Amino acid sequence: MNRENLKYVCWNVTTKCNKKCVYCFRELFESDRTLEDNMIILHKLKEAGVNRITFSGGEPLSYEGIYELAMESNRLGIETFIVTNGDYVNEDNIELICDLFKRITFSCDSPSPYVNKESGRGADNYDHILYLCNLIQAKRPGHIVQINSVVTRANYGEQEYMLSAMRDELSLAGVSRIKFFQYYPIRGYAKQRRCTLSITDEQFDALRQQQSCRQEFFDVTFKDIKFLDKDCVVSPKGALKESENYEDKILIEDITKVSSEELQEAIDGHYAKKKAGGPHV
Ligand code: SF4
Repeated sequence: MNRENLKYVCWNVTTKCNKKCVYCFRELFESDRTLEDNMIILHKLKEAGVNRITFSGGEPLSYEGIYELAMESNRLGIETFIVTNGDYVNEDNIELICDLFKRITFSCDSPSPYVNKESGRGADNYDHILYLCNLIQAKRPGHIVQINSVVTRANYGEQEYMLSAMRDELSLAGVSRIKFFQYYPIRGYAKQRRCTLSITDEQFDALRQQQSCRQEFFDVTFKDIKFLDKDCVVSPKGALKESENYEDKILIEDITKVSSEELQEAIDGHYAKKKAGGPHV
């Protein structure tokens, strides 16, 4: 898709998750909408010109209607992606998930069982993600698979070790990109732990600089807080939000209650404001 024409939302479709990652910034105090309500939201997003949706959460695969929503999103011609912790992905549903989500992003912070246990991801997180990447590679070679990883004060400096430990296994398993995200204490558990886990912009930039002189088999990108602020987010309760200076700002309280023209105005306004600094991919 031409990046200039991209109109993207990140849809945090559920507050639910089976994990308790220490840096998690999912909504804790909203309620999920019914599938019927979310279908209305999806159609309004389409009418407002949205052409790419990334389903996230919480854990999006814990939302009961996720397959139906994704099916409809595809039917409407919307590019449909997912970010998942991978726990509900297995041999039985992997092909369906590949059919529904053009890009699958798994969350993984380290090859170390100890680090993964401490961060709340679970000791077997890396092994499971590696297994899933290989499974996709076997069944759907070429399918877009990425890894998201969060950089906090607790794992700062381990990224080089992580890349050297993982680069062969993950590139063979078809992973095309690893994105390192700066820890963002904007809501939920992440906000509560701001003092213990935050890293500075300068620290994050230093990591980016170190990596920029290396060659990898896959693309390695660094997404700072300014990048995260470019997201236009649909929250579990069906609000449209943007973020700035560590705060959420509600653009629309309930998408089901506004016209698609009002929704379009809010999304276009968001993108006009955040345009400086390049496209959001
Ligand atoms: S970061 Fe992701 S996997 Fe971890 S608790 Fe939050 S939603 Fe769940």
